[in-house]
Amino acid sequence: MKICMIDGCDKSTKAKGMCSMHHQRWRRHGDPCFIKVRQSGHPISCQWIKCERIAISKGYCAKHYYIQRNIGLEEKHSASID
Ligand SMILES: [Zn+2]
Ligand SMILES: [Zn+2]
Repeated sequence: MKICMIDGCDKSTKAKGMCSMHHQRWRRHGDPCFIKVRQSGHPISCQWIKCERIAISKGYCAKHYYIQRNIGLEEKHSASID
């Protein structure tokens, strides 16, 4: 079972690597952590080159976290730590 890509969320995924709640926020606001980010007061922008979206996990926005994670999985395939 895949779990939601958002940090601190362990619900099962519904779409785009997110659970139904986060996916719904993403559709509504373009940001799965819309409320969380506003509460923290310290939004971090995506570390991807030329991307100015708010980072939602591991320093990346939803789209780039997804890409980065898939790349990472390939690279770490032989040295998996889990
Ligand atoms: Zn979630
Ligand atoms: Zn990004």
